[in-house]
Amino acid sequence: MTTATRIDPLSFLSDQLNDLKTKGTHFKLRVLDDEQAPVCTFDGKKVINVASNNYLGLTTHPKLREAALEATRKYGVGSGAVRTIAGTMKIHVELEEKIARFKNVEACVVFQSGFAANAGTVSAILGKEDFIISDQLNHASIIDGARLSRAKILVFEHKNVADAEAKLASVKDQPGRKLLISDGVFSMDGDIGPLPGLCDLAEKYGAIMMVDDAHASGVLGRNGRGTIDHFKVHGRVDIQVGTLSKAIGALGGYVCGTRDLIDLLYHRARPFLFSTSHPPSVAATCIAAFEVLEDEPERIERLWDNTRFWKKELGLLGFDIGGKTTPPSETPITPIIIGDGKLTMDFSCELFKEGVLGTGITFPTVPEGKARIRTIMTATHTREELQQALEVLGRVGKKMGIV
Ligand SMILES: *Cc1c(COP(=O)(O)O)cnc(C)c1O
Repeated sequence: MTTATRIDPLSFLSDQLNDLKTKGTHFKLRVLDDEQAPVCTFDGKKVINVASNNYLGLTTHPKLREAALEATRKYGVGSGAVRTIAGTMKIHVELEEKIARFKNVEACVVFQSGFAANAGTVSAILGKEDFIISDQLNHASIIDGARLSRAKILVFEHKNVADAEAKLASVKDQPGRKLLISDGVFSMDGDIGPLPGLCDLAEKYGAIMMVDDAHASGVLGRNGRGTIDHFKVHGRVDIQVGTLSKAIGALGGYVCGTRDLIDLLYHRARPFLFSTSHPPSVAATCIAAFEVLEDEPERIERLWDNTRFWKKELGLLGFDIGGKTTPPSETPITPIIIGDGKLTMDFSCELFKEGVLGTGITFPTVPEGKARIRTIMTATHTREELQQALEVLGRVGKKMGIV
């Protein structure tokens, strides 16, 4: 028997891809030739980049670069094992202690990514008798963690505290534990979760309160301490998740809480137990990043200055930047809502040709009919760069009938 006649068992994947092409939402990955920076080169073309999560410009900060190089020279390039076997290096522990002090909590554990932190934590602390009360727009990593836990998932309307209460009340007499969980900042719309109201509910119903601060880390609160600090709900959130991949500029995620929570995660969180820890360079980079957050608060001020300017100017150009059919942004995440998936991808392509990288985001990352270009401001964009990007957005937007 020859293999030539074998039918490709994966041919259904080609059908699915063709379907995306017909819809106009198929994409090719854009490849960055140089550094992640406000102006950089993707696919050989120099563009103004308003698509990254590099809020504070830390991806190329000289102190972080130097920390990574020094750690590599001192400790090599890899940790060699998962944390629980032989892969806990002193520098990993130093980073965790640094974050715990920064957040003013008992303890912290670092995961390989924010995704691993959420998915690993939710699935480690709950089981199938338990309940997860989750905002409708929570991040995919929370949803996956919830599914892995096999707990029953009750989804409440986005930021609707009354609906969250109705969901909690509906299971209050059931024996399982209840976890109330929200993003601190919602990644696609840039709005902030109603933490004070949710904390009240968690206290009233004896639920565990968990917040995912991926887009708030380094952005909101004193020196970027996040939404718990922003809302002054210290001590009322049992589990705080943050990322080291966005404003911090490197890679990783962390969980902050009591010593017992962290100790339990050492024993039960599957990404911690079954996946190798960070290279020493990453841990060293992150330690340096937290020093920069404390030493250079002007970066956060510039981030917010640029954000106010960018939102105002985009609004003046006539774009829908949220608040009509989608929640209004309150952070540097500024969506340009287009609606139609194909028009969004075409708009993104035209912008790129004119020198602006603004990535189109369509279903399933955002709901059908709510496709958008998600822009994110950074501290390091100059006014001239922003003016130039605005000129292109306005011109292309008019040409395509978007404004
Ligand atoms: C990006 C993001 C994550 C994942 O963080 P990574 O470190 O990139 O894995 C988790 N939660 C939210 C809300 C995010 O936006």
